[in-house]
Amino acid sequence: MSFAELGLSPKVLDAVTAAGFSTPTPIQAQAIPHALQRKDVLGLAQTGSGKTAAFVLPMLTLLEKGRARARMPRTLILEPTRELAVQVRDAFETLGKNHRLTVALLIGGVSFDDQAAKIDRGADVVIATPGRLLDHFERGKLLLTGVELLVIDEADRMLDMGFIPDIERICKTLPFTRQTLFFSATMPSEIQRITGQFLHNPERVEATPLSSTVASLEQWVVKAPHDAKDKREKLRQLMRSQTNIKNAIVFANRKTTVALLETSLKRHGFNAAALHGDMDQSARLKTLSAFRGGEVTYLIASDVAARGLDIPEVSHVFNYDVPIHAEDYVHRVGRTGRAGREGHAFSMVSKLDTKHLKAIEQLIKKEIAWFGDVPKEEPAEAHEERPKRQSSRAAAKPERQPKPERPAKPERQAKPERERAAPKTEKPQRSHRPEPRHLPDAPDTGGFHSGNMPAFLARPVRSA
Ligand code: AMP
Repeated sequence: MSFAELGLSPKVLDAVTAAGFSTPTPIQAQAIPHALQRKDVLGLAQTGSGKTAAFVLPMLTLLEKGRARARMPRTLILEPTRELAVQVRDAFETLGKNHRLTVALLIGGVSFDDQAAKIDRGADVVIATPGRLLDHFERGKLLLTGVELLVIDEADRMLDMGFIPDIERICKTLPFTRQTLFFSATMPSEIQRITGQFLHNPERVEATPLSSTVASLEQWVVKAPHDAKDKREKLRQLMRSQTNIKNAIVFANRKTTVALLETSLKRHGFNAAALHGDMDQSARLKTLSAFRGGEVTYLIASDVAARGLDIPEVSHVFNYDVPIHAEDYVHRVGRTGRAGREGHAFSMVSKLDTKHLKAIEQLIKKEIAWFGDVPKEEPAEAHEERPKRQSSRAAAKPERQPKPERPAKPERQAKPERERAAPKTEKPQRSHRPEPRHLPDAPDTGGFHSGNMPAFLARPVRSA
């Protein structure tokens, strides 16, 4: 399959060649023809699969007809984070180099007035985080009745960050007849439920299943002490033992740990910088660009950085903390071993983490080998009796699973960027709150569930 066979316009094909893309990725080959036929698409694809171009390329072709009107964008892309929104804008710049399209980026942390002025002149494409988009809308700066195509990107991330009620409100203001392209790396039941509401008879397309981590990735678990100081020392030993590190991401579950690790690693001579959700936009972009450019070797990150960010050729991933949610493991280690390159992922596991390790192994359908010491059977707590003899995977089969400590301050990367609260009457009901996915780290999902979905979303199915 070549790009020329997908139905893209000559201008788009020229930009694709100039970008150096020779063959469409599986998600592009599957999604682009449906998108060009104005069908709704449900794409199951993670970052690194080429999913951005899978929606940008057909959008560019479709946008060749018609023109932008003041304050009425023709297309809208919703992204969960500012970084992702910036990346999609960059993709429009590269792939849309033959098009004279106006692309407005509506994200928090940058001037509201400049954004409003841009929409005022007429935008073909609006790329926005949900909160900032609603701010513009509520201030009357933007009309969404002209939107012909909506992209909801990283839907599972939106769910984690509590953005689904905002998306629901945004969809209320969009035309009934719009086309929707919906992408998610995973398909938890909450997402499955909402796709039935947001999409019309969608074409389902799928890249490599998320739960199978790639073959070029070497994965290890490392026995770690529970004491934080000892654990940091163990991390340093581990990092020093790896002589082939080109660059690495060190993941921690909490932003406080991220900050602490950054300070500690720097003090011990590691070229490290932190990336987490409490940093302001310019600091985050600066850190990312330093990491991409090789000026920073170790990026210390919370899960904010695990998804969505296109950081090519990371040689190592170190999970200082085992992620609480197994899917996050796949996202984290997915930063290395990309595009057939060799990757190395190490996860530090203390006896308190065994439950989470087990969940990860179930998800990826393989047992991860121990690097160095294999944990010996130990009493779960000092005052307990020694447990009965266990298998060599003692850590995976604790007699009693101690609860992980409650984090002092959970990481909330995408705190909604809205500067004004939504009018009370339009707020979704918050009763019957569903279980947050990342207890206790996850932000609230905002009380969304199918039971409080407004009736307008249960649209009749269009004929293709
Ligand atoms: P994405 O999954 O959209 O974040 O894309 C991951 C990376 O793959 C980006 O750096 C893209 O520029 C690159 N890419 C996307 N499509 C192709 C393609 N067909 N051939 C080669 N590289 C691609």
